[in-house]
Amino acid sequence: MPPPGERRTWLDLPPESGFGVHNLPYGVFSREAGGRRRIGVAVGDGVLDIAAIAAVQDEDFAPLLAAEVLNPLLAAGRPTWRAVRQRITAWLTDPGYRPVVLAHRLPLAGLHLHLPFEVADYVDFYASEHHARNIGGIVRPDAPALFPNWKHMPIGYHGRAGSVVVSGTPVTRPRGQRKATDEDEPSFGPTRKLDIEAEVGFVVGTPSPLGESVAVDGFDEHVFGVCLVNDWSARDLQAWETVPLGPFLGKSFATSMSPWVVPLDALEPARIPQQPQEPEPLPYLRAERDWGLELAIEVRLNGYLVSHPPFSSMYWTAAQQLAHLTSNGAALRTGDFYASGTVSGPEPDERGSLLELTWDGLETLLLGDGTHRSYLNDGDVVAISATAPGPDGARISLGEVTGRVLPSVA
Ligand code: CA
Repeated sequence: MPPPGERRTWLDLPPESGFGVHNLPYGVFSREAGGRRRIGVAVGDGVLDIAAIAAVQDEDFAPLLAAEVLNPLLAAGRPTWRAVRQRITAWLTDPGYRPVVLAHRLPLAGLHLHLPFEVADYVDFYASEHHARNIGGIVRPDAPALFPNWKHMPIGYHGRAGSVVVSGTPVTRPRGQRKATDEDEPSFGPTRKLDIEAEVGFVVGTPSPLGESVAVDGFDEHVFGVCLVNDWSARDLQAWETVPLGPFLGKSFATSMSPWVVPLDALEPARIPQQPQEPEPLPYLRAERDWGLELAIEVRLNGYLVSHPPFSSMYWTAAQQLAHLTSNGAALRTGDFYASGTVSGPEPDERGSLLELTWDGLETLLLGDGTHRSYLNDGDVVAISATAPGPDGARISLGEVTGRVLPSVA
């Protein structure tokens, strides 16, 4: 443990800032929309141009930060991630670095934030038992809510890496085939059931070779950090296309991620034991260490809080998901990205999708402006944010992932 005060920054940050010296999430910014992209770290309401500081200080990791994406840093592995984080912490806590840091600290307002890394493969899981039971109850009310495999492995599917977009990117209402239960034939047109899924995303840094599996407790060797995800979903497209091969076009039109990747090291105070699992999973899914995470998520629709899902309620951990994802020998590549699945807690106001919050439109949500929603309207803005416990009772922020719905394009 560092002595008290050692990690106190000389920067003048408000005590409630979720982007203090214990967080230090990485992102990619530019001064103009099409300008050169640079790697930065969010501090307070500003961005530290760490690529520039590392170059000025002649740090041996400076070449990793000279890229326009995080991938070279992601590929460098955990000892390097630790060393870079320690140096950034030193810059912000040793007053001797004050001149160089202040010379490279930019106000966030006016900067453009970009997708922080080149996404390799994208996988989406289905790890909340509350979510899975709600969906089962809505879609198959006369059958058991969970399929027999659900408590034996983390269920997932391979998604579309190319349509992962950074927060703030507008989402055009997708078109596709849909057939309501009272319609005889399918038709093609804009989705009538555009939805969200509040999820947590995990960014893979260290690759693994084809033919080898990653153990559950190898999670922190391979995973660099965490962000927030909105897995936009067209429920009518999804319902018509999903059987028998799973999600496809109802999901692949856009998946939004928050711009700041919070390093796993910053989430140490958020680590908790995982939920009890019965039956006990097979040996390759058993962990020696605690990989549960306490994250408090909030979902806002047009600025109005509609849900606050607790990530601590997830049944399968991200470490079990990574082990399962590689259990067949599938290789990991730097930039692989996987999402937790919709985070839904046990309470009605802890559900992470409109499908669940409105029970597929049977009920409506009353927003603070007096309007009602079942699914999303054109023009609606969805923002998902989260905080995690930090040291000494403070909280750190995961920022937010936001997006506005644009009308369908014919
Ligand atoms: Ca999902």
